[in-house]
Amino acid sequence: MFGLYLHIPFCEKKCSYCDFYSIESTEHIHAFVRTLVQEIDLRSTSDIATSVFFGGGTPSLLSPADMATIISKLCNSYAIAEDAEWTMECNPGTVTLERLEAYRASGINRLSFGVQSFTASELMFLDRIHNADEADAAMSLARAAGFDNVNMDLMFAVPGQTMETLNYNLLRMLSLEPDHISAYSLIYEHGTPLYARLKKGLITPQNEEVDAEMYALVIATLTAAGYEQYEVSNFARTRKQCRHNLTYWHGDNYLALGPSAHGYIDNTRYWNHRSLSAWTSKVHEGVLPEANREALTPHEQLVELLFLTLRADGVPLAEFQSRFDIDLQSLLQPDLGHWFDAGFVIDNGITLRLTGEGYRVCDEITLKMIERVG
Ligand code: SF4
Repeated sequence: MFGLYLHIPFCEKKCSYCDFYSIESTEHIHAFVRTLVQEIDLRSTSDIATSVFFGGGTPSLLSPADMATIISKLCNSYAIAEDAEWTMECNPGTVTLERLEAYRASGINRLSFGVQSFTASELMFLDRIHNADEADAAMSLARAAGFDNVNMDLMFAVPGQTMETLNYNLLRMLSLEPDHISAYSLIYEHGTPLYARLKKGLITPQNEEVDAEMYALVIATLTAAGYEQYEVSNFARTRKQCRHNLTYWHGDNYLALGPSAHGYIDNTRYWNHRSLSAWTSKVHEGVLPEANREALTPHEQLVELLFLTLRADGVPLAEFQSRFDIDLQSLLQPDLGHWFDAGFVIDNGITLRLTGEGYRVCDEITLKMIERVG
């Protein structure tokens, strides 16, 4: 069982905060599709894919014909489960009913919209190309095209944002009834225009207390609306958890294709060249377009699994015992009582899982657990 990730490296306009690899010109998009099809031939596996994720960049810049070409190649090259989750990230400013219907007909069954905010000043600050009305329209179009599994991304701790505007954004998003919401605090990534503006003192970031208050509001509002928090930043309606992301968070294998894509197979990470031209040259030479790869030591695997599963739907006790010969409940005994009393962690006999309160102090609990496992 594995996940498949395909990176589509094109955007109409770069957002100031984004450090994903993408370029603003779509001039080479058809050549890119031909090369991606060739990269698929370079990466074979007999395993069964249970999810396929088109991320980016802006996959919705691909024409339905190009998307159908890639999907047909994937289906001919890999064993893909009949009930696989097929997700496509979309910018709300780039969709039409016709395109969404065509994507649906070619097999995409889940959409993820980068909405981020419904407040004009915040969207402008983030350099998004869409406005709030287009986000509303994108959801209506998605439903009309037959999508019953739709995610919306939300950003908080944006400079200038207030508890009132965040509350407005949350309520307006909930009124659209998405099946899944990913809510992230704005991160100032090195190398982005936003980071440069921060360093020049041109931006006043939200302070840590406000960031924490906003996160608490997000959790309280979404859980009260019936969404289950199943990862630090992710909330889903019943049976609408993102299967692809769970592959990452459970430490399972995922194959990644496209420039800058990161894969993880049998405890080895690899990452492709972060340049369309370097990636293209390698694929055309018939070699894997990897910039590098690294095999994780058993200790690194243990720490990674602890870190990822604690942030998500719980640390699997039996797997730690069988794979690493570690009895986590005994090892964490000095801390567990305090975490249980504080309502941060629950032990259901299968996993040690964070509660809503626990997700708010996830970093501290993770550090303590990593210290205990040595
Ligand atoms: S549209 Fe998405 S991928 Fe493209 S620059 Fe903006 S955040 Fe990054």
